[in-house]
Amino acid sequence: MNKIKVTVWSEGLPESQPHAVKSYPNDINAAVADFLRNDPALEVTVSSLGMDECGLSQNLIDNTDVLVWWSHLYHSQVTDETAERIVTAVLQRGMGFLILHSGLFSKAGTMLLGRCGAGGKFRECGERTRVWLINRAHPIVEGLEEDWFDIEYDEMYGEPFGIPTPDDLIFVSWFQGGEVLRSGAVWNRGAGRVFYFQPGHEEFPVYSENKSVQKVITNAVKWLNPVRGPIPVSRGEVDALESIPNALFPERLERVKSKISKRPEPGLYRL
Ligand code: ZN
Repeated sequence: MNKIKVTVWSEGLPESQPHAVKSYPNDINAAVADFLRNDPALEVTVSSLGMDECGLSQNLIDNTDVLVWWSHLYHSQVTDETAERIVTAVLQRGMGFLILHSGLFSKAGTMLLGRCGAGGKFRECGERTRVWLINRAHPIVEGLEEDWFDIEYDEMYGEPFGIPTPDDLIFVSWFQGGEVLRSGAVWNRGAGRVFYFQPGHEEFPVYSENKSVQKVITNAVKWLNPVRGPIPVSRGEVDALESIPNALFPERLERVKSKISKRPEPGLYRL
């Protein structure tokens, strides 16, 4: 069986954030890639904002089944072209998109899910987070031993947070300070799937140390692997598959027939 090609992308951590650099000396992409590489079903590539083409060339995107995305401070430095490339791959080809932490506010995240309510609550003191499992039937929770798990220290994001209403809710988190958040949610978009998972502020080594978080992300990557379904090859006004002898405007059927030679080639379809 072919391995799932996973690209783990993050924006890089500046020296002005010493706690972050201490938690992730090789950046967050490397920490996530480290545990994903333990799974023989996955072929993992790391990439980051500082690389050519924001680290996401068309060639790399074309060779990515699932993109894991972590961004926080530099959403605006990702070019519109790069964001469009991601969105097109999700919608057309079904590339899975795993959005971590503040990636909801990234350009691609916003284009796929809509704008989150600005001004969501946060607190960065480092507090205990209890992640409650909501959907026991979802593949993303496979192998979790309890119906909740704790993260010793993380950032609080609190409702109302403006997370677009999901197609399915997998986790809700409770924070030691009292707030709650829909912290794990999924959406279908075009041919692709999107999973948002909130844990993982850069100043706390959540990805490198918390086994439950690692299990959820690994499960999610597998679930996000594209379904190899059909790619639509036509859009707009199309010829009828069956005859319509009683059509009210038969000349419009003729009009479509005259355009058939202009039908786009497979793979060039754009939503
Ligand atoms: Zn954060």
